[in-house]
Amino acid sequence: MSAVESGARAPLQITERLLCGWGRTARSRCRVARPRSVEDVLEVLARSAGSPAGVIARGAGRSYGDAAQRNGGEVLDMTGMNGIISIDPGRAVVSVEAGATIGQVMGALAPHGLTLPVLPGTRHVTLAGAIASDIHGKNHHRDGAIARHVLSISLCTPAAGLLEVSPESDPDLFYATLGGMGLTGVMVRATLRAERLACPWVAADIDRTDSLQHTLELMSGEDGHRYSVAWLDLLAEGSKMGRAVVSRADPLPSDGSSLHGRGRRASSYPGALSRRATFDVPHRFPTALLRRSSMSTFNALRWRSTPRQERGRRLAMVPYFFPLDGLGEWNRLYGASGLIQYQFVVPAGQEHALERCFALISDRRLPVYLAVFKRFGPAFGGPLSFPLEGWTLAVDLPAAAEGVRAALDELDEILIACGGRVYLSKDVRLRAELMSVMYPRLEDFQTQRARVDPAGLLRSDLALRLGLCGARA
Ligand SMILES: Cc1cc2nc3c(=O)[nH]c(=O)nc-3n(C[C@H](O)[C@H](O)[C@H](O)COP(=O)(O)OP(=O)(O)OC[C@H]3O[C@@H](n4cnc5c(N)ncnc54)[C@H](O)[C@@H]3O)c2cc1C
Repeated sequence: MSAVESGARAPLQITERLLCGWGRTARSRCRVARPRSVEDVLEVLARSAGSPAGVIARGAGRSYGDAAQRNGGEVLDMTGMNGIISIDPGRAVVSVEAGATIGQVMGALAPHGLTLPVLPGTRHVTLAGAIASDIHGKNHHRDGAIARHVLSISLCTPAAGLLEVSPESDPDLFYATLGGMGLTGVMVRATLRAERLACPWVAADIDRTDSLQHTLELMSGEDGHRYSVAWLDLLAEGSKMGRAVVSRADPLPSDGSSLHGRGRRASSYPGALSRRATFDVPHRFPTALLRRSSMSTFNALRWRSTPRQERGRRLAMVPYFFPLDGLGEWNRLYGASGLIQYQFVVPAGQEHALERCFALISDRRLPVYLAVFKRFGPAFGGPLSFPLEGWTLAVDLPAAAEGVRAALDELDEILIACGGRVYLSKDVRLRAELMSVMYPRLEDFQTQRARVDPAGLLRSDLALRLGLCGARA
């Protein structure tokens, strides 16, 4: 009789794998289990209790650094637990297993005229990965990060087993988990608020700006648009530095007339969510294209080819929110040494620090092609949540480029001086001593972590590097 016929759980397979984040920089050899049930997760936690290396949950592995791996330890690959548990269209509430991706959840919500209120730049991340990073979208200035929209989570913890945690039942543990990088437990389910989706299109106002000053003017104090993002040309010299293509958008109303006869394409929206990338970057991509001179030409071309001003441009939601998903495995563009994504936030009122950061990027001749700039609204939620009211910039840098790490250390110093911080989900190189300065509520986080994991079983390479998980008991 098979395990299925007898009703018994199939034994968990463990495979040894070399894991890394999306940046493909730090690699670790891990023992990977792919649980299918809460019992499987609890079994791995119980079995690993004596393991000196520890255990950490992993979603889709799209954090850039070393947050979802543990060298020599156990990794729980949560992508096997990806069911949609329930959707309540009346209340606009969805409950899912934690390994479901943003794309899968959006696909399930779409037929009910619903969508998720916060979307990152790719739909290929898991919901638990998104919650553990407290992700933000292009609407943070209006709607906050995902923590604002999560109603409850089911969390497997080493010390207390399965806990149902909500802002009402245990606010301290709840908010420590939202943004807590998997260090307070393994999320197995989450319930969150969805929002009405009138139609899967946005209307975008697009402006080409000539300077950083002009870019900030357009993006600040402007709460009229729901979504706002800018692509910055950080390779332009002199006063042109910080010139940008700024896109501010709003969802289109359901009114069919606003689609100008594009209804057929709009109705294929759920299909678009599961569509594969149109092109996969090959393994051996010529990295010469990543030289500063080539990037500078690309940037100038991109900036010039954008009209100075366009109003009400209709854009389909999927390419608008997930532009990079059209190019499969785009991280290979950076070659075998990979890429570092450095994302930081500078508090509102400290714009001079932004200028210093940009000047340093220019002076150190960093080859920055992709520089994505957003405005954040007020901070909300947990001690390790990244967003602060102000400005955030994310830059992709070839890890092998000369002087990159030293220049990022200098950028850290500018951030410390102005009360800014870097985003842990993108990090692979921050020094441990800066952690409590950038995240001054770190002690609160440690208190919550110690409640549910006093022996320090939950640990990732990132947690160890930054001193987030203490010594193993
Ligand atoms: C192209 C691209 C665009 C992006 N755009 C944005 C953006 O716009 N905004 C933004 O905020 N982020 C963005 N990100 C970052 C991304 O959203 C986060 O890194 C997210 O955490 C990745 O989810 P994942 O499922 O891949 O998690 P992983 O990378 O696998 O894990 C990330 C963290 O979540 C924890 N975790 C995963 N699953 C669980 C679980 N079940 N229980 C507990 N902890 C768990 C892990 O331990 C780890 O600490 C982007 C990333 C990429 C590659």
